Amino acid sequence: MQKYKTKKRFGQHFLHDQGVIKKLIYEINPQTNDNIVEIGPGLGALTFPLLEALSTLHVVEIDRDVIARLKLKNLASLQIHEQDALAFEFEQLAKDAVFRVVGNLPYNISTPLIFHLLESASQISDMHFMLQNEVVERITAKPGSKTYGRLSVMVQYYCETEYLFFVGPESFSPPPKVDSAILRLIPRKVFEHKADDEKKLASVVAQAFSMRRKTLRNNLKKLISNEAIEHLNIDPSARAETLTVEDFVKLSNTIQ
Ligand code: SAH
Repeated sequence: MQKYKTKKRFGQHFLHDQGVIKKLIYEINPQTNDNIVEIGPGLGALTFPLLEALSTLHVVEIDRDVIARLKLKNLASLQIHEQDALAFEFEQLAKDAVFRVVGNLPYNISTPLIFHLLESASQISDMHFMLQNEVVERITAKPGSKTYGRLSVMVQYYCETEYLFFVGPESFSPPPKVDSAILRLIPRKVFEHKADDEKKLASVVAQAFSMRRKTLRNNLKKLISNEAIEHLNIDPSARAETLTVEDFVKLSNTIQ
């Protein structure tokens, strides 16, 4: 087959490191009847090892050239969805059942894609993603750390998060300019701290982190009074990066 020329605009960095592929498949631990959807299969670095274990695999891919190559394999077990993953309606794959998500994501769309998937979180049993290392660090960061922010709070509200392992640029062709890492997300089935209105939670979190160096009192002054913050046992002179997810839920549930 002709050598494939990768496209920058689709964030194409193909995994070729067999050690990394094995480790990732081991972490995913695919079971024959799992309902798995892979985002951005590319030339199939993860797709083919996954298919060895599965009876069916759904893939969502935007690039026609890549799709043409996958189709040449003529695999009945491979269900190809030619679409932008950002617009893909993931629920349709499972009807009332659950599904799992995997992917070596195009880094330029990874954050909006994760937010898009969180909308279907109740139907997802887990997600394994290759992402920019810095993004995995932000998503898994704990309160008080420098990288803890809006992304950490919102993803951790919906999911348990786990940094699995680091992957260097040399594992890809062409190598990306950044380091990568594998992230595991497990959507919560039971919420210990549930927001009455998740849209409101998202906007409070966005406001609280809008100016990182300012206090909560300052960033939230249009939404909630000093007294109301104190009433929740939260220090109004603290910065957003020291608050737990539970604190943000409490703040959001207090605002009318
Ligand atoms: N999984 C492969 C390819 C990773 S590169 C591997 O590990 O080698 C990222 C892949 O995502 C590419 O195949 C790219 O074409 C695809 N892609 C980029 N943007 C996309 C989008 N919006 N929706 C679906 N797939 C996309």
